[in-house]
Amino acid sequence: MVSGPRILLTKNQIKKAVARLAAEIRKDYQGKQPLLIGILKGSFVFMADMVRQLDMPVEMDFVKASSYGTGKESSGKVHVVQGLKTPIKGKDVILVEDIIDTGLTVSVVMDYLRKKKPASLKLCALADKPSRREMPVTIDYLGFTVPNKFIVGYGIDWNEQYRHLPDICCID
Ligand code: 5GP
Repeated sequence: MVSGPRILLTKNQIKKAVARLAAEIRKDYQGKQPLLIGILKGSFVFMADMVRQLDMPVEMDFVKASSYGTGKESSGKVHVVQGLKTPIKGKDVILVEDIIDTGLTVSVVMDYLRKKKPASLKLCALADKPSRREMPVTIDYLGFTVPNKFIVGYGIDWNEQYRHLPDICCID
C-alpha cells in the first residue's frame, strides 16, 4: 500500500537551492548563452524555475529517456526516445535532470549529447541519491543529496501522480 506523501524538502528550501545553482551557473557562463536541455518529464518544473532565476539569455530544449515505466524500479535499460529539436554542435550545453539514482539515465543521455559535439557539456541535477549509483556520474551543479527514498513532487511523479506538489516529498 502507498501511504501519503511526506515532505522531505520544502518549497522554500527548493527555492533557495535553485537560486544558489542559478548564481553558480550565471557566474560560470558570463558572456555565453548556454543551452539548457531538460530530461522529460520530471525536470520541467525545475527547468521553469531555473531559467527564471538565471536571469540571463539561455536556449532550451528537452529530451525524453525511457525510464521507470509505471513502477518504482528502473528497468535497467535506458534509451533516448525523444531527441533534440536544436542542433547543439559548438554550443555550451547544460543537461538538467530531476533525480540521479543509479546514474544510468544521465550516462546514456550524456553519451547521446556528446556524440553531437557540443563545445561543453555539464550536468545540473535537482537531487542525487548516491546510495544506489551504478554508473559514475559527475554532477556539476547539485541541489540536494537525498536518502534512498522514493521522491515525488515539484514535477516528479509516481504513476503520473504528485507532479503538482510544491514540496519534494517521499512516499513508501
Ligand atoms: P537512474 O537512471 O539514475 O537510475 O534514474 C534516473 C531517473 O529515474 C530519473 O529521470 C527519475 O525520473 C527517475 N527516478 C529516480 N529516482 C526517483 C525517485 O525517487 N522518484 C521518482 N519519481 N523518480 C525517480
